[in-house]
Amino acid sequence: MLRVDCPAWVIDRFKREAKEYFPKECFAYLYGQLDAYCVTIEGLWFPEGLKQNCAENMVLIEPHWSTEAREVAKEHDAVLVADIHSHPWPSKYLAGGNPPDHSQSQADIDRRMNDWWKLSGICLIKETKTGKLRSSVRFWGPTIPLDVHINSTQTTQRHLNDDDFE
Ligand SMILES: [Zn+2]
Repeated sequence: MLRVDCPAWVIDRFKREAKEYFPKECFAYLYGQLDAYCVTIEGLWFPEGLKQNCAENMVLIEPHWSTEAREVAKEHDAVLVADIHSHPWPSKYLAGGNPPDHSQSQADIDRRMNDWWKLSGICLIKETKTGKLRSSVRFWGPTIPLDVHINSTQTTQRHLNDDDFE
């Protein structure tokens, strides 16, 4: 098991911000220390101009954000260890349907393929019938990218992700 230590204030700070963004998603980088058996989160950083990149079902991640986040981590003698984003759950889903949960979407996982060893936090924000927002964070471990070879007698097809549609 991989141990994760995270100060409560980091979670509280992200939850507060993510509630401000509701019903849009919110996003932050988490920095800290890393060794083979333990990830220690020490702080978080919200990219500048984040708000205009957030929509109800996605955050448009700018390529330069991770460079800036790495610099912020360095200023704290730390490294990037995770990112976290919110999954808004508006009250319209209380009637049924397929509500969001803490799970990572395929897009969440694919986007992190270059940094697959980092943790991923998901903050589910649920709106109650009375309009109150409740939140809960879950962390996910690294998802190892696979190099899949599909072999037949004539060919070998290689896939980093999905097989082709037929
Ligand atoms: Zn997501």
